[in-house]
Amino acid sequence: MTAATESVTPTQASRESGPKPLTAGQRPLIGHLSVYLFVLVPFAALLLAVPAAWGWGLGWVDIGLAAVFYVVSGLGVTVGFHRYFTHGSFKANRGVKIALAIAGMMAVQGPVITWVADHRRHHAYSDRDGDPHSPWRFGSSPVALAKGFWYAHMGWLFERDLTNQDRFAPDLKKDAELVRVDKLFPLWTALSLVLPGVLGGLITWSVWGGLTAFFWAGLVRASLLHHVTWSVNSICHMIGERPFKSRDKAANFWPLAILSFGESWHNSHHADPTCARHGVLRGQLDISARVIWFFEKVGWAWKVRWPNEKRLARIAVTDYKG
Ligand SMILES: [Zn+2]
Ligand SMILES: [Zn+2]
Repeated sequence: MTAATESVTPTQASRESGPKPLTAGQRPLIGHLSVYLFVLVPFAALLLAVPAAWGWGLGWVDIGLAAVFYVVSGLGVTVGFHRYFTHGSFKANRGVKIALAIAGMMAVQGPVITWVADHRRHHAYSDRDGDPHSPWRFGSSPVALAKGFWYAHMGWLFERDLTNQDRFAPDLKKDAELVRVDKLFPLWTALSLVLPGVLGGLITWSVWGGLTAFFWAGLVRASLLHHVTWSVNSICHMIGERPFKSRDKAANFWPLAILSFGESWHNSHHADPTCARHGVLRGQLDISARVIWFFEKVGWAWKVRWPNEKRLARIAVTDYKG
């Protein structure tokens, strides 16, 4: 048994014996500070680069293209990879399915079936041995948590062991059409980076405009989305509110709600993984759920697993107050 497993077990026991709040002691200072340091400082540097480059290396065309590609590839991951392919939160027709797979692959986070297999494994073993990216992997001491934060955020990506797709995504592997699209991952990656440059060049009718759009709407946009997605794996398993029962350390971290399109309501998600809406409490903005709602309205999605009072009451730690 690892230290990570030990740190989870008493929490489960205390939850089973009564509706006590989660008491895992105080977050160690070093782990706490490292989150601020390594997430906020690079982001601040990026923000400082914006005024520095404005007018010569960055303009409205770059910002507009970056926003469009961020939204399309981001929703491809949250609505597509995550809520549709991994958890089956709704049903969709063939065209929507393929479009979501391609949009998600434009986030440059790996082929859809690889992503889904990793993520289902994460849910099966969350914060225990076998979880591909738990920040509690090395234990709960300050040094172990600092190390764990980095591992959960991006260190795990450099592991060479592949999640067994036959075990975790046999349904997707049976879908010949999806497998074909999945294998074209290098093409979707290339398009995701090159297309903003081509569009930027055409709109500004200049090579320089193409280069700056490639940089901001291709590279910087992909990197920002990477960090937001990774933060759900790292920060949202360390810091935040835990209003619902989940067998792990998943937490709701409100500051990332907008950038993550609702995925940072991660405690609710682990408590009820197939639910199409993660921000289930009042005021919890969940853009992905809104998009699924729109898909349902126009007939692109059906059998959507929306939250209801019964579902929420079942997973609530204390009395549910929607
Ligand atoms: Zn998680
Ligand atoms: Zn999930």
